[in-house]
Amino acid sequence: MTHDILSEVAARLRTRLDVPAIRSCLRCATRFHSEGFNERICRRCKASASWLSSVPSADGRARRRSGRSSG
Ligand SMILES: [Zn+2]
Repeated sequence: MTHDILSEVAARLRTRLDVPAIRSCLRCATRFHSEGFNERICRRCKASASWLSSVPSADGRARRRSGRSSG
């Protein structure tokens, strides 16, 4: 009887982590409403945006193409 329980649990955890819930901020440990697992910083810390400065900005991602069409 070797059921793949581990992967099932992992999948469940993933789903659970991806749902809105009350989580602790990684910066100030304040409990806040997180919209998803990617949301681990409270709004206050986010507002400061000091932690963002260390993150290299992805340049050229949100670039608009010129109206010129070539070929
Ligand atoms: Zn915080």
